[in-house]
Amino acid sequence: MSIETTAATGRRSRVVVVTGANRGIGRAIAERFVAAGDKVATIYRSGDLPEGVFGAVADVTDSAAVDAAFSQIEAELGPVEVLVANAGITRDTLLMRMSDEDFADVIDVNLTGTFRCVRRASKGMIKGRFGRIVLISSVIGLYGGAGQVNYSASKAALVGVARSITREIGSRGITANVVAPGFIDTDMTAALPEAKQDEYKKAIPAGRFADPSEVAAAVEFLSSDESGYISGAVIPVDGGLGMGH
Ligand code: NDP
Repeated sequence: MSIETTAATGRRSRVVVVTGANRGIGRAIAERFVAAGDKVATIYRSGDLPEGVFGAVADVTDSAAVDAAFSQIEAELGPVEVLVANAGITRDTLLMRMSDEDFADVIDVNLTGTFRCVRRASKGMIKGRFGRIVLISSVIGLYGGAGQVNYSASKAALVGVARSITREIGSRGITANVVAPGFIDTDMTAALPEAKQDEYKKAIPAGRFADPSEVAAAVEFLSSDESGYISGAVIPVDGGLGMGH
């Protein structure tokens, strides 16, 4: 475990991996850790990265590539202490039209991809007797969403992943929590028709979509030393849309 402290906060500087930090919520999370003085890496497919983020290219659907990316990050920055599993996709369509492929692809990235990263990251965390695992789920995981059977199933399952990790390795200084964002201004929500966006905004008590930095703030807290007694929790960042459901 690193004992360096960051100039920005005076706290311990950790090695953090955020998957999919090239854009959207993952990018905002990586930027927040960089600003706090952490050593930040990402596992990503393509695109440009925020200043100060070390990139290892891998698709999270490829176990060997994920393992190799972690090895590359460990060689460059040291043992990984914080994992934020953020990479995710949607393939929205109505149940009757959803193909096996639509379902399997979303599960492979959002659930199995997360599992691959968590499994690899946990090795070093167990050895170092410290770890913070944050899984990016969605309000849709617990609330449901018409046309989102695949996505909702993949995101709900992350709660089981975090809680089982907590029971399995929670005694080793490792926490695993879920952040469930509501509607956040990124490419994913920009793809929704404008009428649909307005409809959602009416249903959100806060009356607006969030900035990705508002998700990053919750993730940073759950990754801190101070959050060591919070594990297996689902933290909504949804302007009151789901209120835990
Ligand atoms: P974006 O579509 O903007 O970004 C998705 C990120 O995931 C990209 O970096 C993308 O990489 C990466 N990714 C997708 N598939 C893979 C893969 N197979 N291997 C590696 N990386 C991959 O989405 P958001 O930033 O909006 O979403 C981030 C997370 O937050 C997702 O898990 C999403 O489900 C969740 N979320 C988003 C909400 C929102 O309102 N935006 C609400 C609730 C949850 P690439 O650029 O290569 O495609």
